[in-house]
Amino acid sequence: MIAENLSDIKQGLPSGVKLVAVSKFHLASAISEAYQAGQRVFGESRPQEFAEKVKSLPGDIEWHFIGHLQTNKLKLVLPYASLVQSMDSVRLLEAVEKWCAANDKRINCLLELHLGAEETKQGLSEEEIRDILSHKDKYPHIVFRGLMGMATNTDDEDIIRKDFAYISNLMTELESVSGDDFNELSIGMSGDYKIAIEYGATMVRLGTIIFGERNY
Ligand SMILES: *Cc1c(COP(=O)(O)O)cnc(C)c1O
Repeated sequence: MIAENLSDIKQGLPSGVKLVAVSKFHLASAISEAYQAGQRVFGESRPQEFAEKVKSLPGDIEWHFIGHLQTNKLKLVLPYASLVQSMDSVRLLEAVEKWCAANDKRINCLLELHLGAEETKQGLSEEEIRDILSHKDKYPHIVFRGLMGMATNTDDEDIIRKDFAYISNLMTELESVSGDDFNELSIGMSGDYKIAIEYGATMVRLGTIIFGERNY
């Protein structure tokens, strides 16, 4: 089932779009199944679960952290994450910079833009993102790779398109002033990734359509 889902999805993905298989709440055995089918990039959103899975699964997996990261959980995530997609506050950035300096490590991250009128307030404002990028020298151990965003959770396609257009336009603008490293746009989940591709997604984060519904 999982292998079949992956192959169906991959057929529809343009070659420049990276598929991040979001395995949160699913067992390590489900990840193994996807791994056997050739999938190597996985996303997790809870620090403890993330650290446990990293230790029990093959070492050549590229792990992305995509959930809210509390500053007291850094050591569960930063040693293993190839990319932290969910940098959602200046306070977190400062804590990550400090941890990386102390541990002699550089970490790739995406800045999470708060989109839409979502219940969740998670994410940075456009102003905060501009401000962070214009003071990048404050974060020598962080490599800013691009933007991440979650469209409003709605069936109204016009609203989803509006959210993606907004983040896509901001990306285009920031890309031209933020250097070569800054080129990733992580937008699109199971329900809206085909639309996200139209707006220039370079990564899509798919859980449900690969692994099925999550049991919270
Ligand atoms: C859970 C999650 C996803 C995957 O959502 P699906 O709708 O299951 O594809 C993508 N991005 C983030 C940030 C998530 O937390």
